[in-house]
Amino acid sequence: MGLLVVGTVAFDQIETPFGKSGKILGGAATFIGLASSMLDVKTGLVSVIGGDFPQTYLDMLASKHIDVSGIERIENGKTFFWAGRYHNDMNSRDTLTTELNVLENFNPVVPAEWREPQILMLGNLHPLVQKAVLNQLNKRPKLVILDTMNFWMDHTWNELMDVLKEVDILTINDEEARQMSKEYSLVKAAKKIMEMGPHTLIIKKGEHGALLFNENSVFFAPALPLEDVFDPTGAGDTFAGGFSGFLAKTRNYSFENMKRAIIYGSALASFTVEKFGIERIAELTEEDLNDRLDVFKSLTNFDIELD
Ligand code: AMP
Repeated sequence: MGLLVVGTVAFDQIETPFGKSGKILGGAATFIGLASSMLDVKTGLVSVIGGDFPQTYLDMLASKHIDVSGIERIENGKTFFWAGRYHNDMNSRDTLTTELNVLENFNPVVPAEWREPQILMLGNLHPLVQKAVLNQLNKRPKLVILDTMNFWMDHTWNELMDVLKEVDILTINDEEARQMSKEYSLVKAAKKIMEMGPHTLIIKKGEHGALLFNENSVFFAPALPLEDVFDPTGAGDTFAGGFSGFLAKTRNYSFENMKRAIIYGSALASFTVEKFGIERIAELTEEDLNDRLDVFKSLTNFDIELD
């Protein structure tokens, strides 16, 4: 297994200033898997769904060569449901509903043949679930990447700190980095967070790009200035899937290669926001991705002559 992902496979209902989505396919693991599948990485999802989850969604994921055999179906349960509404700036959103449903008693089981993945991506879930997945592996992956959110900082701080000690890379957004570190400056926040466990930190800043920190270096990748952002849901997960997928594909975990990986993550995320949910990322071609990587190159390329 190149990339083992644990995270939600969900129903989402999204409201933006441009309209309402109805109940659609969502979930962190879904976006992560679709992004890494664009990089031809053998990706397996560990998740849980209810009896109400359509087989056609699983078939669609499988058609992208995502292994869905680690997704447990609880026939008499309901799939995790999340509803959110974006503000006019499209950068902030309110959660309207979170129904954990089958996630409430989720006891992840990593299939025996997946227990030596190259990279483990622990999607945004209860830190004890993240830890349970880590504990089932036969040996430590080359990289363990973890995503989390303010909800787990508020409710499960100690468990989060415990799993964080075993993680190489943490991805969070700017507000979460401030909350976690109690520092306003993101540079100070990064220093403090890297003392909690991860040697590398990615701070996502939505339409303002992403920062990559490790002990001695910092790198910034912009987000593509898009004319229309339709629905930002899943952008962070798509970013994480592109980032981890690129590292799994290239098998190079240096800081220099992480810079490239962050550009892949940003390029893939720039598609996700163009339509509701997974619609755009699921229809993406290799050519679309390459064209956008070119745009990213010219966006950040400049020449300065120094004497
Ligand atoms: P993002 O926009 O990248 O932060 O992630 C959006 C996805 O996260 C949606 O598809 C939701 O299904 C999922 N999600 C929302 N709330 C939670 C939660 N509390 N735990 C896990 N996943 C969630």
